[in-house]
Amino acid sequence: PIILGLESSCDDTAAAVLRGREILSSVVMGQTELHAAFGGVVPEIAARAHAEKLDLAVEEALSQAGVTLREVDAVAVTAGPGLIGGVLSGVMLAKGLAAGLGKPLIGVNHLAGHALTPRLTDGLAYPYLMLLVSGGHCQFLTVRGPQDFTRLGGTIDDAPGEAFDKTARLLGLPQPGGPSVEAEAKSGDERRFRFPRPLLDREGCDLSFSGLKTALLRMRDALVAEQGGLHAQDRADLCAGFQAAVRDVLAEKTRRALALYLDEAPAEPAFAIAGGVAANGAIRAALETLCAERGVRFTAPPLRLCTDNAAMIAYAGGELFAAGETADMTLAARPRWPLDRNAAPLIGSGK
Ligand code: ATP
Ligand code: FE
Repeated sequence: PIILGLESSCDDTAAAVLRGREILSSVVMGQTELHAAFGGVVPEIAARAHAEKLDLAVEEALSQAGVTLREVDAVAVTAGPGLIGGVLSGVMLAKGLAAGLGKPLIGVNHLAGHALTPRLTDGLAYPYLMLLVSGGHCQFLTVRGPQDFTRLGGTIDDAPGEAFDKTARLLGLPQPGGPSVEAEAKSGDERRFRFPRPLLDREGCDLSFSGLKTALLRMRDALVAEQGGLHAQDRADLCAGFQAAVRDVLAEKTRRALALYLDEAPAEPAFAIAGGVAANGAIRAALETLCAERGVRFTAPPLRLCTDNAAMIAYAGGELFAAGETADMTLAARPRWPLDRNAAPLIGSGK
C-alpha cells in the first residue's frame, strides 16, 4: 500500500510517501532560522510555521513521489507526543485528507516512528533492542511489535540532545548543538577536563545527563575567570570531554541493556540506535564495538532518517495499517504519550 505520512510535532514540517519499505519521497522543511534568534524552539512560532507549510510539504512529497492523492491508500500522522500546536495542525490536515479521500487515517506515536525506523531501513526482525536518543528523549526499549515496547530504562533528567544543545549554547556555538559540538570535539583532547560519568554506580539502565552541563558551566566559568575568556582550544577540549562523557555513559548503560535483552535469547539479536543523537559518530562507533563483541547486529539509520522526518511516520503508519489499527475522526493530538503503556510517568521520577 501507498502511505502518506505527516510530521509536525516539533520544529520540522515534514511529509513523505512510502510504498511498503520503499521511500518514494521524504520532504523535511526545517524551521531552524525561525527559532535561531531565541536560542530554542518557540512553540507559537513553530505552530504558525507548521500551519503555513504543511500543505506545501504534502504537495511537494506527492509530486516528488509521482503519486496523486487518489493513489494514497492511507494517511498516517504524528498524533503526539510533541508541541501541541504543531501536532494539532498535522492531525487536522490528516483528518481532512483522509475524510476527503475516503481513506483510512492512522495516528502514529512520534517515538514509535523513531523506534521502528530500523525496520524501515534495515528490515530488523522483532524483538530488537533500541536506544532512542534524541533532543527530548533517551530510553532503551525492547521492540516487539508496532505497539509493543518494553522500556528497560531511560534518562531521569535531561536528554542527551538537549545536553548537546545546552553545551553549544554555553560555549557560544551554533544550534542545533549536536553537530557543532561534535565538529569542535574533533580537534579536542577528551582527557583535559574531567567530566563526571553520572549514575554508573547505580544498577540498571537509567541515565542522567544534567550533571554534565553543571560540570561544563563550572569549567567554563573557571577558565573565563582565569584567562578572561575562552581560547579555541579550550572550546574544543570542553566539547571533546563532554562528548566522551555522554559516549561512556551511553556505552555502559547499553552494555547492561544488551545483557537484559540477550537473556531472552532473541533468534536474530539486533541493536539499533535512532533519534537525532544517533547521528554522532563517536557515540555510534562506541556502541558498534560493543555489539560486535557480543555478536549482536548493529544498525543505525542514515542521518536524514535519524532526525525528525515523515518517512518514519508513514512507515510506522503502514505497520499499524497492516495490523488493522486505524483511527477515526476522534483521533486526538496528545502532548504526552509514553510508548510503554506500563511505564511509570517520567515526571516526578527525577527530582
Ligand atoms: P524528540 O524526537 O525526542 O521529540 P527532537 O525531535 O528534538 O526530540 P531529533 O530531531 O530526533 O529530536 O534530534 C535532535 C537532537 O539531536 C538535537 O538535540 C541535536 O542537537 C541532536 N543531534 C543532532 N546531530 C547530532 C550529533 N552529531 N551529535 C549529537 N547530537 C546531535
Ligand atoms: Fe524526534
